[in-house]
Amino acid sequence: MSHKKTNGQVIFVGAGPGDPELITVKGSRALENADRVIYAGSLVNPALLELCRAGTPVHDSAHLTLEEVVTLMYEGTRRGETIVRLHTGDPSMYGAIKEQFDYLDKQDIQYSVIPGVSSVFAAAAAIKREFTLPEISQTLILTRMAGRTPVPEREALAILAKHQASMAIFLSVQDMGSVVEALMEGGYPPSTPIAVIAKASWPDEEVLMGTLETIVEKVKDAGIRKQAQILVGDFLDPANGYARSKLYDPTFTHEFRQGTEK
Ligand code: SAH
Repeated sequence: MSHKKTNGQVIFVGAGPGDPELITVKGSRALENADRVIYAGSLVNPALLELCRAGTPVHDSAHLTLEEVVTLMYEGTRRGETIVRLHTGDPSMYGAIKEQFDYLDKQDIQYSVIPGVSSVFAAAAAIKREFTLPEISQTLILTRMAGRTPVPEREALAILAKHQASMAIFLSVQDMGSVVEALMEGGYPPSTPIAVIAKASWPDEEVLMGTLETIVEKVKDAGIRKQAQILVGDFLDPANGYARSKLYDPTFTHEFRQGTEK
């Protein structure tokens, strides 16, 4: 196989969570200039493809294997094409990009990554919440339940739950009963607030708010089985209030502002 450099390149682009206006300016420019697009059809909003020049070949990777995807990349870049690989949300979360990078490295094909708005942040925006409330939690855990893809044992949901940090759980709403069970096993009290946001930023977005006691029933009644974020923690509804920020406290002095005396 030839290891000669070509002028072709692959640009991995975060498509954002669904709303086509939530792609970055840089990402949308990459789509406008693409010679070919390979998009993750199960989650990427196809409206984004309208940004491409008329006649740009597009491939839905939902029907393709890794081998088929990288073959398209290899052949296209050999012809000098700029190929956009469009992944949902931000590509670095459950994007299966590393295996593509490794192939491209081996073939000496140039590539770069343009980040995107992850669905975790679209979900927080949908319910107008802040993950990091002073004296409630200053940490956000992004995780998932084990499914057909295993999760290392040391990262089991029940173990992560012990931190009682703010948590966002991807890829798991189809198994809501087990999610709640693991969270309680880890020590979250049954009254802990939890939200399920399905299709955040899409026209058919759905929001369910509840507690660990009520949410399983609500998810079942709503018939939500996929494409949802599960957000857990007291940041959703701090029962005993929270501390206001230091940064905007009138008595607090920092680099840019002199505080008043206490
Ligand atoms: N890279 C993506 C995640 C891909 S994994 C990102 O950064 O968002 C797919 C999972 O992401 C889904 O199972 C679901 O948990 C979540 N997801 C993707 N799009 C979503 C959306 N619009 N609303 C809620 N959750 C979404």
